[in-house]
Formats: sequence, structure tokens, C-alpha cells
Amino acid sequence: MSDGRRGLDRRRLLQGAGGVGLLGVTACAGAPAPRPVVEAGAPRLAPIIARPDRLFDVTVCLRPFRAAGPRLDTEQIGDTLVVHNYGHGGSGWSLSWGSSTLAVQKAMAGGPQEVAVLGCGALGLTSATLAQRAGAKVTIYARDLLPQTRSSRATGSWTPDSRIALESAAGPAFGDLWERMARISFKTYRQYLGLPGEPVAWTDRFTVADAPPSHGERRRGSLDFAEYGKRIADLTPRPEVMAPGTTPFRAPYVDRSTSLMFNVADYGHTLMTDFFLAGGRFERREFHAPAELTSLKEKVVINCPGYGARALWSDESITPVRGQIGWLIPQAQPDYGVIYKNVSMLARRDGIVIQDLRGGDMVGYGETDETPRRADSEAAVAIIAELYADHWAAGCA
Ligand SMILES: Cc1cc2nc3c(=O)[nH]c(=O)nc-3n(C[C@H](O)[C@H](O)[C@H](O)COP(=O)(O)OP(=O)(O)OC[C@H]3O[C@@H](n4cnc5c(N)ncnc54)[C@H](O)[C@@H]3O)c2cc1C
Repeated sequence: MSDGRRGLDRRRLLQGAGGVGLLGVTACAGAPAPRPVVEAGAPRLAPIIARPDRLFDVTVCLRPFRAAGPRLDTEQIGDTLVVHNYGHGGSGWSLSWGSSTLAVQKAMAGGPQEVAVLGCGALGLTSATLAQRAGAKVTIYARDLLPQTRSSRATGSWTPDSRIALESAAGPAFGDLWERMARISFKTYRQYLGLPGEPVAWTDRFTVADAPPSHGERRRGSLDFAEYGKRIADLTPRPEVMAPGTTPFRAPYVDRSTSLMFNVADYGHTLMTDFFLAGGRFERREFHAPAELTSLKEKVVINCPGYGARALWSDESITPVRGQIGWLIPQAQPDYGVIYKNVSMLARRDGIVIQDLRGGDMVGYGETDETPRRADSEAAVAIIAELYADHWAAGCA
């Protein structure tokens, strides 16, 4: 990039921040709120080694999307109370504690001493943990332990309204319920910050662009995916505009937001260890029909099969949304994320997660193919490599 562009005048940069003038000037009605501008204090960032030969894995997961939002009702099957807790789209980790809190309240209403949980993904493990905390003896029944579940193939970001529902199908009441779940989850994640292995951490994410970004609008597909983020805007810091020279990125438009990251390997290990230490039991078992749940000794079951509900519960309201991640070998230093040309990089301790976001929310919608496509991940890595080759100020880190 030329020095001329680097010396980009600040007013243009701020105009890029949603057409707002100088910091502190009130935005026009309807315009996005002004973003704080960072003028100094360059963050020390280590570069990512983005080479296709460093891709040590490519994984695919199906988001369990329901247009009306997750299924959270209860159902009586013979003498067994089933509390449903599935269908969280691209928000399963983020909403898990809140959704499972509501499920456990229903499960414990009759004061059972023993509770069964079907499923050992994000929703199953948080339901099991909360049921233990509420005083129950808990057994998890599942086909897979966490490392084999779809949950373990997630990005690991705080994304509580990612493909969680369609506005038209969820109805106005769902917004309040979503907010409750998101706030409970966020508060609970607080308990996992600062632990050895950093299961949960705050990290910076930089959006790096050659042209002014359009703020305040998430990329939309042809469906009306619900967006509730504004309801909880108080939970996380406002995104900031990074003035030229304050980051090692030389592209003219750099924004920083700060958010929670889940180091899923550490976090999952912590959840499972805590569950077993509290006396929890795991039994590997596959169910083929809801009626099989009545054979369990526990008469209250929290049902968290994720996408598996489509087959087990014949629930055709679940739509698969395929998502793929390329895993670059982790590096010691980088602990931040970047979005460049709609490819996302998030440096986790268990791998550097590369995800192609080009095409928006409709990509993978209705797709059930869980076969990894390595060439796609290599193409995404090439874009991240471009960023570090063309837009990185050597010696800045
Ligand atoms: C690429 C990608 C990235 C994502 N990134 C994020 C993110 O950054 N943040 C976020 O919040 N969410 C993210 N998600 C969404 C998140 O991964 C899901 O919402 C979440 O994993 C759903 O968890 P779950 O526990 O409901 O289901 P699963 O993880 O699928 O767990 C289901 C459990 O039920 C068991 N089971 C299913 N059927 C049966 C059966 N018939 N008999 C016995 N056991 C059964 C399984 O063995 C498993 O143990 C992402 C999804 C994808 C695809």
C-alpha cells in the first residue's frame, strides 16, 4: 500500500465509521452511534504464519437451526418428563448457560433426585452441570463425548444471535427470552475467566479493510435472520476505529472489537472434569426413538441432541447449516482475531481457526454434507496470507 493511502486523512477515516464526524459528536437520528477512535498505543500483535501446509485439520459441523428459535418446551412420554433444549443454530456455545438454566428450572420443578441428560455437547454439558448445582445426581447419556460432538468443531466466539431464528417465525416474544438467555450465559462465562489454560478469555478482533466498512449492519442472506445484538450492547465494549499507525495492519480501515473467546479444548475439558468431580456419570448410548427414554431409571430427561433431534425426534423444523473450519497450527503469541475480505481468523490455544464468511448467513443453509473440503480452507488461508504479506508493517509486532 502506498504511503499516500497510509497518510489517509482522519476525517475520511471517521466518515468510514458510519458517516459520523469527530468522536463525541452526536450521531444523526437513526445513524449508528459514533465509534471511539484509538489514536495511540499500538497493540503488539504477532503475525500469523498462514500457509496451506500448516493446515493440520479441516472440520465440518452442522448448525442446528430452527426458524422459530430453539425448542425449549416440555413433553411427557409415559412416566418420563422430557425437557427439550436443542436447536441453537450458530449460537449454541454462547447461549448454552442461559438456555440450560431455563431447562434445569423446568427439570427440577418436581424436585427429582436424579436427572438424565441426553447429549454431551455444549447444551448437554451445561445442563448437566447446572442440574448438579441444583442438587441432582446426573447421568449423561450420549452417542459421543464432547470431543466427538459437533460442538467441538465450533469457532469459539461469543455469537449469541448467530442464525438463532428468523424474525418472521420467532415472533416478538422470543427477543425477550433470547435476551434473558444471553445475559445469564454472559454472566456465567465470568466464572471461567482467568482459569489455568484460559478456557474463556477476552480477545481483540480486528476488521481490516481496503475500503470503508459499512458499520452497524450484519451481512444478510435472503432470509430474515433475527438480530438481537443491540439488546445486549451494554455487555461488551463498543467497537473502535483504529487510526492509521496504531496497529501493524497497513490497510486504511481497521476496526477493533473486544469479545469473549472460548478455547473449546480447554473449556470442554474443564466442563467435563468438573462434571465428573461432582459425581457425574457418563453412559455411551444411542437412542433411536423417543420412547426409549422411558427405559432410563431417571424419570426426568433434559434432551440436548443438537442436530441429532432431526432424526431422533423426527423434527423437520431443524435445518442444517453447514460450516467448515480450517485449523492452522497454533502459535505461542497471537491471541487475537482478524476479519479480512470476509475471511475470519481467530487465534485459539488449540489451533488458529480459519473460516470463510464470504456469501453470508445463507452459505451452507440446508446442506447436510459433513465431508471436509480442504481446497476451500486452503483458499481462505491464502486470503489471510495476503493480509500478512501486503498489509503488515514488519517490525511493528
Ligand atoms: C462452523 C461452526 C462454527 C460455530 N461457531 C460457534 C461459535 O463461535 N459460537 C457459538 O456459540 N456457536 C457456534 N456454533 C454453533 C454451535 O456449534 C452449536 O449451536 C452447538 O454445537 C450445538 O450444541 P448441542 O449441544 O446442541 O449439539 P451437539 O454438539 O451436536 O451435541 C449433541 C449431543 O447429542 C448426542 N446425540 C445426538 N443424537 C443422539 C442419539 N440419537 N442418541 C444418543 N446421543 C445422541 C451427540 O452424541 C452429542 O453428544 C458453530 C457452528 C458451526 C457449524
